[in-house]
Amino acid sequence: MLTRQERSPIVPEEETTTKYEIVVNEDWCKGCGFCYTFCPREVLEKSTTFNSKGYYPPEATNIDRCVGCGLCEAICPDFAIHVEEKKTKTTTKRGRK
Ligand code: SF4
Ligand code: SF4
Repeated sequence: MLTRQERSPIVPEEETTTKYEIVVNEDWCKGCGFCYTFCPREVLEKSTTFNSKGYYPPEATNIDRCVGCGLCEAICPDFAIHVEEKKTKTTTKRGRK
């Protein structure tokens, strides 16, 4: 005989996934390279195009590797880069209530 828990309906479960976006104010950047040199996850690279002042700002070429540690934002002397958190809810699992 099934227990009460085994007979309860299967319901979708929601999961929250956190991803990060790196926002660069390119014209504030002076291309010092601190952010892409010290990012522990190698998310950032020097851009191949320069800004209005002739400096190469960072580019988030491996954004899926970002863990949102905020080091790039903290280390930038010109407040030219910041990290934004993006939470998305997904219904990926099914479970019992
Ligand atoms: S938040 Fe951390 S992991 Fe993400 S790009 Fe900045 S330094 Fe790298
Ligand atoms: S640390 Fe700031 S100023 Fe230096 S390259 Fe990165 S965004 Fe530009």
